Amino acid sequence: MTDPLSLLLHRQAGAHGPVMLMYHSVTPGAARPDWPWAVSTNAFRAQMDFLHRHGWSTPTMAELLAAPHEWPGRSAVITFDDGYTDNLAACELLQARGMRASWFIVTGTLGQAPDWSSQGRPDVRLMDAAALRRMADAGMDIGSHTVSHLRMPALDDATLASETRDSRARLEDVLGRPVTSFAYPYGAWDARCAAAVRAAGYRGACTTRTGWTLRDGDPFALRRLTIYNSDSTASFARKLASGSNDVAWPATARRLMSMARARVGL
Ligand SMILES: [Zn+2]
Repeated sequence: MTDPLSLLLHRQAGAHGPVMLMYHSVTPGAARPDWPWAVSTNAFRAQMDFLHRHGWSTPTMAELLAAPHEWPGRSAVITFDDGYTDNLAACELLQARGMRASWFIVTGTLGQAPDWSSQGRPDVRLMDAAALRRMADAGMDIGSHTVSHLRMPALDDATLASETRDSRARLEDVLGRPVTSFAYPYGAWDARCAAAVRAAGYRGACTTRTGWTLRDGDPFALRRLTIYNSDSTASFARKLASGSNDVAWPATARRLMSMARARVGL
């Protein structure tokens, strides 16, 4: 259920240009996962139904960057980092609604368990080449999340080049089509990382900075909203409206007050 105040706030959603939503694992069923970066399938379904019901377009990242001005108003790019096998059910759910999304894949461990640690993460493997091919055939955008999921700013130039180039080459080999989308592991990046991503042939890169996606006017510094295990459909609606992860009621009340002040000219 979405409360009336969140719905009221959502009425202004889309006024500031596209948003990007960041997901990781989507666990089966209704139980709230422990890992903050996972959402239950039931929560994900409710969020996608909300987008569908409220007239949101869901271009892929590749589509958005190819023609940024063709996606005004309510446009949300749905993204998934890491490429967990539990995303396949989420992909089917999107397909059933005519929606699309972008996935960022760690290419060094396709079909295996992730080899980087993250406390509390569900015990899932990474999707294999055949699964990625099926998703690309269904119109999903398959992008890179490097070869090894390392923190990029700490890498030397040669490693930075191989992590970005080799993962793109691997994905293009698997998919037989161009790969242009990228997301920085851990959202960690700087100007040198952005230059390496550009030099490797990508058209843009996602960060984990919060805000309207195109706010910085830089395709290699796209902003995303994080969807957590704790998000309800109501807080999801408020994120879409505010372009912020901080949609707890105190912050929301401040935002409402400034809207009201602007309306009466104070
Ligand atoms: Zn990641």
